[in-house]
Amino acid sequence: LAALPRTRLFEAIKSHDPESTAVIHSLSGRRFSYGSLLRDVAAAKQRLANDSGRDAEALQGERVAFLVENSYDYVVTLLAILGTNAIAVPLSPAFPSGELRYILDQSGACMLAASSKFATKADDVLSGELENKPILSQWEKIMEGIKVTEDVVLEDMKEEKGGMMLYTSGTTNRPKGVLLPQSTLMAQAKSLSEAWHYSPNDHFLHVLPLHHIHGTVNALLTPLLAGSTIEFLFPFTVDSVWSRLAAPFLENTPSKKPITFFTVVPTIYNRLLQSHKTLSPELQAATKEALDPKNMRLNISGSAALPTPTKQAWTELSNGNVLLERYGMTEVGMALSCGLANEDRVDGSVGWPLPSVEARLVDLDTKEIIQPGEELDTNGKERSGEIQLRGPTIFKEYWNNPTATAKEFTEDGFFKTGDVAVRRNVPSAGKGASGEWAQGPMYFILGRLSADIIKVGGEKVSALEVEREMLSIPAIAECAVVGLPSETWGQKVAAVVVLSEQGRTAGKGGKAFGPMDLRRGLKDRLAPFKIPQDLKLADSIPRNAMGKINKKQLVIQVFGAPD
Ligand code: ATP
Ligand code: MG
Repeated sequence: LAALPRTRLFEAIKSHDPESTAVIHSLSGRRFSYGSLLRDVAAAKQRLANDSGRDAEALQGERVAFLVENSYDYVVTLLAILGTNAIAVPLSPAFPSGELRYILDQSGACMLAASSKFATKADDVLSGELENKPILSQWEKIMEGIKVTEDVVLEDMKEEKGGMMLYTSGTTNRPKGVLLPQSTLMAQAKSLSEAWHYSPNDHFLHVLPLHHIHGTVNALLTPLLAGSTIEFLFPFTVDSVWSRLAAPFLENTPSKKPITFFTVVPTIYNRLLQSHKTLSPELQAATKEALDPKNMRLNISGSAALPTPTKQAWTELSNGNVLLERYGMTEVGMALSCGLANEDRVDGSVGWPLPSVEARLVDLDTKEIIQPGEELDTNGKERSGEIQLRGPTIFKEYWNNPTATAKEFTEDGFFKTGDVAVRRNVPSAGKGASGEWAQGPMYFILGRLSADIIKVGGEKVSALEVEREMLSIPAIAECAVVGLPSETWGQKVAAVVVLSEQGRTAGKGGKAFGPMDLRRGLKDRLAPFKIPQDLKLADSIPRNAMGKINKKQLVIQVFGAPD
């Protein structure tokens, strides 16, 4: 097993070759070594203390918010806050000022560090109404006016004091502040590294927002602990991703290193697949080479359900690089994952509990724990249950919200995720080929209890299952399945659909694909009560930065408010 060299952040960073590359800015080609990272973090630590008007000790446990683009400066800022034993609150520049004020107030941040790129945004945020105005620290040049002469001392990391506060994606409600102490972040990194074998040979292409767990823990902190290289491609466009992936395999740019690790959300894989068709034959060949498993070690998808057609198309494009799907949340980091062995990447499944994660399913109807071997009820039907999680990777509290915290934990300390799954034995998988943790029955996500489990008469319908089947119809490019109130059945299944090019003429007599075509397309795939009764066509389906759909909003927008 590839283990991390150290599981304390700064000890690990110090153990890496100081000359090796920690961060690259993809577009400019600028490189920053692990050695310079440590020096700059020490300087930035001093800078934070200076700007706060307190000594560094007094910042311990305080919330320090920051607004910095995906870059080396972001990494320096984050590590400096962690090194101060303060709580880092990364802000998304894409958020409107009002939302940022909500986060500043909710977190009670004493400081806001902003890079020059976001100086105007920071001014705008701070000029509005705030309960508690944080001190502004203009992060123009981190090193400016600071001389670091002595050796860098960064070991004084108090794992319980500092950490990060990440806000949930706000898919179902206002984002909640999730406190992740350093010890929790390190446990998450350790667990991931054990399962996915991060190493100094890994070269990440990073295009994700950095204020969410996916971009921060999976593609930033864990690679830093492992001594990998992180290449930021910011701002992100699909064309720039393709040209960067292709570069090492094109004659004029052989100096670029092949990317070995790429993790994004399903919507980005979809967009990449769409744009790939428009590339020149030369670029198409080079990108195929780049994605070939012998060059690209790992392609990961998560944050929302991965449609099977997307997964299959990627496999085809990449000479058999099968996307690895995993399931995680802001509150828990990554919790379930498919394995490194191809046979352990089963369509529609998110695999097994990652190392150190304890997972269980609690039957939605009987509230009993579904014990291994009890996955079917007495009628031979699959039992669906809420995923509950425990272990060192799980958060301890929602910030300043003891009521929400208390509500989401069971008496025996399990976190109630609000997501529903079934466990299934897959004969070809789970034999331990990916490690000891990847054994036994696999988890299959059915969706959120609050939005994706539709109760039709006595039956439960998983919106994700219906979406998965709908997406295998070529006429459908995108869809969202929702529950609508029904007088007869309690709820009925409805769908919002974005047609593919082909779908616009896929109906009878060359008309657009319609409800009857949908029924016909699904009748051999789904039980009748699962087939959407209502179908609305749309030009697009609104999603947040992580590619997720707020279904409550979507229902109101498309079907109107209930009477
Ligand atoms: P909020 O909690 O504010 O409503 P959110 O739950 O979308 O927003 P995140 O913590 O970013 O915020 O997302 C976690 C959720 O994403 C999970 O609870 C789950 O519903 C969904 N999710 C993550 N990975 C997968 C996956 N592989 N398949 C299906 N759903 C997934
Ligand atoms: Mg959530």
